[in-house]
Amino acid sequence: MPKFEYAPAPESRSIVNLRESYGLFIDGAFTDTADGRVFKTISPATEEVLAEVTEAGPSDVDRAVTAARKAYEQTWSRLPGKERAKYLFRIARLVQERSRELAVLESLNNGKPIKESRDVDIPLVAAHFFYHAGWADKLEFAGYGSSPGPIGVAGQIIPWNFPLLMLAWKIAPALACGNTVVLKPAETTPLTALAFAEICQQADLPPGVVNIITGAGETGRALVEHPGIDKVAFTGSTEVGKQIARACRRMHRRNTLELGGKAANIVFEDAPMDQAVEGIVNGIFFNQGHVCCAGSRLLVQESVYDEVIASLRRRLVTLRLGDPLDKNTDVGAINSAAQLAKIRELSDLGEAEGAERWSPPCELPARGFWFPPTIFTGVAQAHRIAREEIFGPVLSVLTFRTPAEAVEKANNTPYGLSAGVWTEKGSLILWMASRLRAGVVWANTFNRFDPASPFGGYKESGYGREGGRHGLEAYLDV
Ligand code: NDP
Repeated sequence: MPKFEYAPAPESRSIVNLRESYGLFIDGAFTDTADGRVFKTISPATEEVLAEVTEAGPSDVDRAVTAARKAYEQTWSRLPGKERAKYLFRIARLVQERSRELAVLESLNNGKPIKESRDVDIPLVAAHFFYHAGWADKLEFAGYGSSPGPIGVAGQIIPWNFPLLMLAWKIAPALACGNTVVLKPAETTPLTALAFAEICQQADLPPGVVNIITGAGETGRALVEHPGIDKVAFTGSTEVGKQIARACRRMHRRNTLELGGKAANIVFEDAPMDQAVEGIVNGIFFNQGHVCCAGSRLLVQESVYDEVIASLRRRLVTLRLGDPLDKNTDVGAINSAAQLAKIRELSDLGEAEGAERWSPPCELPARGFWFPPTIFTGVAQAHRIAREEIFGPVLSVLTFRTPAEAVEKANNTPYGLSAGVWTEKGSLILWMASRLRAGVVWANTFNRFDPASPFGGYKESGYGREGGRHGLEAYLDV
């Protein structure tokens, strides 16, 4: 199949006004650190330094929690729901107004293609604030009692794969329910959270309701263990999630965890093949596979295995890898050198364990962190690439013969976040969905998100739900 040559179509970055350095957003204002340091944040696509950011130390964490407590007691928890809703609506509209700037900033700092940040991440951020604004004055109808109250101050820690979207998943429900927050973005992607701090100022949000403290793992640990926090919400690796769960148990502190995944994307022989192949590509190559619910294990019914693999390879040849700000880019940069090393290590292991590796011919840029879209066939369930979360653009393909075998293989994982089923039979979809141990099961689609739909996992994928009516429970004292 001929490969189209596309002229460069870069989105201009002039819409982003980067400051040279950023302080911490505490009590409604940007402040210098009391006892922390500064670090540089880069573009993973070029390794260019974008800005200097503050690493919050213990007394900064303390200041942020104190500000959040004061705002909770004196202002936010006392406001009627309809007043809180006004602020959330205002934030949602400001996100929409600044959407192009936020999309460019997200792609610069994270490495994800602009068409994803522009068409998926940022619209979903606005949607989450609109959705939760709607709940703020209707909480008594959410099914959690006649006057459900807030919990208090939430400590929130988010990862680097969807920086602003994960912020929205955490902050929107917390604020709607009357809580205040201290949020720590990931070390490698702090810039859109800091832009969000400006949006809080623009929206005239009362000082201290949202506090953003940048830093690394140590800052996160100090936040989790601060005595002034009432609840911890975490999204990230299962390993850190377990540490946080232990700390919270020790301190009798509520917590919700959204952790890793190793989702099965299951294709039956009667599936609409063209759509299924698109779904497979979307499932694992969207956001470079840096997706906790990525369809990283493809289970194909044996009778259509050759057809699916041939179509998938044809499709992968057309994917364009490169400049995240180019509007034609499908696959952007890997977020960090550390993540790239992990993807390389696990992929090399896949080969060493006997699986067959294939990537389309594609040139990787000389600077920055890059990994080509990769498929492993001949994968056995015991292989590490079939068991561990690679968190990169790497697909492991397995086969099955019967629906029962598909269920058994899909559930053969310590995780349980998501799954996909591709078939034209509605009864088979329902049969599978009732047996798959996954928080979300997509039918004839993949990686679909909606603020009204709860998201969360089983087993080592964590507990608690985010989004929808169910997600409110995590921020209500019920
Ligand atoms: P982490 O779990 O380390 O990071 C998630 C967040 O937790 C970041 O803000 C991080 O800060 C913070 N953090 C790190 N250590 C602690 C701690 N001890 N106490 C409190 N907070 C802490 O993920 P990584 O970025 O290290 O990625 C490692 C692997 O995790 C990936 O390869 C991937 O497999 C998986 N992952 C899964 C995600 C998911 O959504 N399921 C998201 C991200 C990663 P900082 O960034 O500054 O270290």
